[in-house]
Amino acid sequence: MSEAMHEVIIIGGGPAGLSAAAYAIRKRLDALVISPGLGGRTNRRLELPWVDDYKVLIGEEMVSRFRSQIEYLDFMRVRSKVKEIVPRDEGGFRVVLNDGKEYLTKIVLLTTGAVGEMLNVPGEAEFEMKGLCYSTVTYAPLFIDRTAVVVGDGCQALRAVAELQRIASHVTLIAPTHGQLDMQLARNLAAERNITIMDSYEVVEIKGDDFVRSVVVRKDGQTSEIRTDAIFIEKGLKANSELVAHLVDLDEQGFVKVDEMNRTSYPGIYAAGDVTTAYSDQVLISMGEGAKAILSIYDELLGIC
Ligand SMILES: Cc1cc2nc3c(=O)[nH]c(=O)nc-3n(C[C@H](O)[C@H](O)[C@H](O)COP(=O)(O)OP(=O)(O)OC[C@H]3O[C@@H](n4cnc5c(N)ncnc54)[C@H](O)[C@@H]3O)c2cc1C
Repeated sequence: MSEAMHEVIIIGGGPAGLSAAAYAIRKRLDALVISPGLGGRTNRRLELPWVDDYKVLIGEEMVSRFRSQIEYLDFMRVRSKVKEIVPRDEGGFRVVLNDGKEYLTKIVLLTTGAVGEMLNVPGEAEFEMKGLCYSTVTYAPLFIDRTAVVVGDGCQALRAVAELQRIASHVTLIAPTHGQLDMQLARNLAAERNITIMDSYEVVEIKGDDFVRSVVVRKDGQTSEIRTDAIFIEKGLKANSELVAHLVDLDEQGFVKVDEMNRTSYPGIYAAGDVTTAYSDQVLISMGEGAKAILSIYDELLGIC
């Protein structure tokens, strides 16, 4: 075990963790970033046959500026995954890595993000980011005069359909169950001429060539195929909050509850970005939250309440 007690260990190297690290450098904090890689979910971008180059600013570019700042400070980062966070009787925490190494810290900042819930059907893995994606909010603006399929039956899916409806030529919602289809928003969407809602249809397969071309669905034993330019899986996000689940308060979906200073319910544990209940799921928001968390941690280390 490394006996040095860090002031803060940032777990996760996505937008929230990177901006937190950049602000920690500015404050000359003794900070350590532990993450298998840097960039988080922004490391991958959706490829579409009609898009050669992204004219809009995407997360990847913003994050790369912060990433390069952290990359050359190799004393500040450990390329690994955290297995366990153990509170110490003497104060602070022991952070245990998958490879058995351990680090001590006064404060933990959790920025482990969230992952989109998968469909687990043939073709999903093959076409991921080749027309199949889990983030409508990021890519909807690219669908002018294009068709799109959204899969999901909750608020997230309805919001995705609403966003695409203003841009795409046609949007099909494939709802695996009736879910939230009684909501007023669902009724409003059903009345739009460029929306089809397929209630209680199961996605069986995603098909394509170099990119997604169609989705095979089934209802009452009957299968049909819907041609589309892209498919968005909007079944919900799953927070990567297992590391602190035994210590801090989570909401019903497993997201870490934080206050306006990014404090969790456990003293000394902070959280920022997609793993939290803060309204996020975008790079800019996660970066702002990560920066805010470090400023808040800085205050705690100074003894300012
Ligand atoms: C396909 C896709 C494309 C997107 N594109 C954009 C975009 O262009 N613009 C935009 O604004 N938003 C985009 N988003 C949303 C955006 O990526 C997220 O909101 C943002 O990345 C969240 O940042 P985060 O730091 O909270 O988490 P993440 O980016 O998820 O990063 C989490 C980090 O924690 C690490 N980690 C997880 N578990 C552990 C552990 N046990 N130990 C150590 N490290 C761990 C991970 O390796 C990762 O580095 C996109 C999302 C998706 C799914």
